[in-house]
This record gives sequence, structure tokens and C-alpha cells, in this order.
Amino acid sequence: MNNDNELLVDKDFKIETAEIITVGTEILLGQVLNSNAQYLARKLSNLGINCYFQQSVGDNEIRLIETLKLALSRADLVIITGGLGPTADDISLEVASKLTNNKLVISESELEKLNYYLEINGIIDIDNKNLNYKQVYLPEESIILPNDKGTAPGVIMKNKNADLAAGANNLIMLLPGPPKENTFMFENYAEKFIKEHSEYEIENVYLRAFGLSESVAFLALEDISTTQNPSVATYVFPDELVIRVSYKHKRTSDLQKLYDTVKIVESRLGNYIFSKDSYNLIETVFNKLMENKQTIAFAESCTAGLASSKIADISGASEVLLGGMVTYNNDIKVRMLGIPESLIAEHGAVSNEAALAMSTNARLRFNSDFGIAITGNAGPNPSEGKEVGLVYIAISSRRKDIVEEFKFTGDRQKIRNKACQSAYYLLLKSFLED
Ligand code: ATP
Repeated sequence: MNNDNELLVDKDFKIETAEIITVGTEILLGQVLNSNAQYLARKLSNLGINCYFQQSVGDNEIRLIETLKLALSRADLVIITGGLGPTADDISLEVASKLTNNKLVISESELEKLNYYLEINGIIDIDNKNLNYKQVYLPEESIILPNDKGTAPGVIMKNKNADLAAGANNLIMLLPGPPKENTFMFENYAEKFIKEHSEYEIENVYLRAFGLSESVAFLALEDISTTQNPSVATYVFPDELVIRVSYKHKRTSDLQKLYDTVKIVESRLGNYIFSKDSYNLIETVFNKLMENKQTIAFAESCTAGLASSKIADISGASEVLLGGMVTYNNDIKVRMLGIPESLIAEHGAVSNEAALAMSTNARLRFNSDFGIAITGNAGPNPSEGKEVGLVYIAISSRRKDIVEEFKFTGDRQKIRNKACQSAYYLLLKSFLED
């Protein structure tokens, strides 16, 4: 057994392409979400490794060989997840080793570890023990990746079968199927190996925008989009638009090109961008409130507490959220929140005037820095003769009050969600304008 990768892999060997094979009949049957593939694909992308194909295959020797041959014909590194365990249907290592001319021999160090693991976990059943012993037969020349979360070790080995389509020398990495074991092993052992054998790295900047559609963003950024380096891609993340700027570079180069592209995106969509880090809109508002030591209170009509509950999802919310009132009914708006009856009679509850009065009274009653009011018609039927999707949002602060009219589309739930997000966006804008 060889744990020194200098001896195993030529120093000049560079991993440019990788292919992921996820093994498990449960994946093919749709019983398990293929989260390993998603995790590994993301990781490889961040490492600057091109991943042009993924395959999923059941626990079947003939089909696994077929899959593996194809992957080895086109990738420098083939990552197999699953099928490393002790049971008879866990065949990945045996099949891959046989195909790539790697001899399995008992690993004394893994045997020792396994005995210790079985002992401290009180597993004394002889049959179980025998099953687990299968896992200590590992390729004679390979790098062993310790499994700190389970028993089956991971393996990196070289393809020694020159008869395969792309010839020998590309690599096979085997990782366990259980996601916890898989991610821990990748992060702590496998990633380092890949970094040592790849020339490139990808640096990403994520910008988050609100209030514009993906198609509008696409048109604005079309000339600097996916085909270039740095590349720009957009995707919708619940109610927000994420713009990812990626730069693939050799480790030695500087990141000026990346920052230049980020600046171009900001210059074109600046009005909509609210964050240049991993925080979503509500987290951004929360951070800002914490930073300023400011507090908020809500008066919600059509959203009925949804807006306040969104910030309450963040731990530490009690530092900034004082409370809120669900004033769904007009009589409650009058009696509990103190909105003049005459105001509702004159303008209706779905109006600029009502929203402003609600936000001011929420702020005063809760003695908060900001009062946030949402009143509108979430549908499906019109009310007060006003159209479905019409929502007024007001923010009241000690210095000024603002109110905006929105016409949202979609079903009831969508309208209520958009109203909440817009309220937070308006709040963020009012900090910036303050
Ligand atoms: P074990 O020692 O548990 O047998 P293993 O490496 O043999 O590990 P599998 O038996 O193939 O892994 O899978 C074990 C469990 O891990 C599956 O039942 C499934 O819940 C989960 N799993 C396997 N592959 C994936 C995958 N690609 N994505 C998400 N979960 C997976």
C-alpha cells in the first residue's frame, strides 16, 4: 500500500477534466436525491476542473464497467461515489480495480483501524465483522482517503489498463455514498489531492439583485455572459436574482480581470444590486440593522405576519425585531392600530394613505426605529373594487416616511411573498438613502 502520491502519480500529471459516476440503484429509482453529484460538481467547478459529463448507474457489474470505460475514455479523473460498503451489492471498488488492473490486497493499517472501530462501537457479532473486513482489501498501489465518519475508506488509484480507449494513467477516485461521509472525505482529503494536480482555480463573486427579471439582466449582460473568461451567469434564487461572475485562472495570476468584470455588472445593474456576498436580502437587512443598532416593527394586512416571520427565521432576530400586528380586518386596523376610520372610509384599506398611517402607528406603538406596513389585495378576488396584486408598502422612520405602490402578478402565495421581499428591499433602500 502506498500513501505517497508522488510515487503514484507523475508530478506533471494535471487534472483538467473530471467525470462523476454515482452508483446506487436507489438513485435510479428516484428514492434518493443525488446530492453527492451536486456537491461534487460544485466543488470541481470551484477548483477549475471541467466536468462535461455525469453518469448514474445501479449496483450492477456489467453496467458499471460500461459506465466506467466510457468515463475513463474522456476524463482525467473519474470520481465514483457509493458502493464502497461491506455488503454484497457494494461492488464499486472490486469492479473498478479489476477493470483498471489494480490488485486488491489487505491493508494492515486499515485492518487495525477497522478492528478498533468495531471494538469501540461494541460490534462483536462475527458475521458483521466478516462483512466489514471486505473493506480493508484495497488496491496495492493507491492513496487511501480516511473515512472519519464511517468505516469504508476512500481510494485514489491509477488506471493501469492500457487497453482502455484513452490508454492508461488517468485516475479513479472512489468515495463513500452516504453524503456526510462523502463530503467530509472530499473536503478533508480528496480536495487537497486535486488541488495539487490541477493548474487552474475558479474564483467566484456572487452579486444579488432584487426587482429585475432574469431576462432583463440577461439582455443587459449578454455581451459579457457565459462564453467568456471571466464569465457571467444569472440564476433565480427564491425571489432574488443571483449574478455569478466566475474567473478561471492559473493560481499565480492576479484577479484584476475578475474585479473589472464585477465593476461592469455593477455599472449596468447597480440600482438593483443589494449585496456582493453570500447574504440574501433579509440577511442583508438584518446585518444592516444589527450594525446600526436599529429596530423594526410590522403592521401587516395581506401578508398576515409572513414578513415578520421571515426575519424571525434568523437567529438573533430578537435584537432587531420588536414585534408586529396582524391587522387583517379593517375594524382591527382602527381599534388596535389606531388608523382613523375616516381615512379608511375615504381611501380604503388598500391605499397609500392607509399604508403610511399603519407604518407610522406601528413604529410609534412599538417604539421602534422603523415601522413597516404592508396592505394589499392578494386575491384571488378583487376587494374594495381594487385589482388583485395591488399592494402598498410603507416604511416609517424617525426622519421620513416612504410609500410605494406595487402591482404583483401570480397566485395568492406568490403575491404575498413578493410583497414581503419588496418590503425588505424598500427598507434596505431607506437605509441607503438615509
Ligand atoms: P455504506 O457503507 O453505507 O454501504 P456505500 O459507500 O456503499 O456506503 P451506498 O451503499 O451506495 O454507499 O449508499 C449508502 C447510502 O448513501 C444510500 O442508501 C443513500 O442514502 C446515500 N447515497 C448514496 N449515493 C448517494 C448520492 N449520490 N447522493 C445522495 N445520497 C447518496
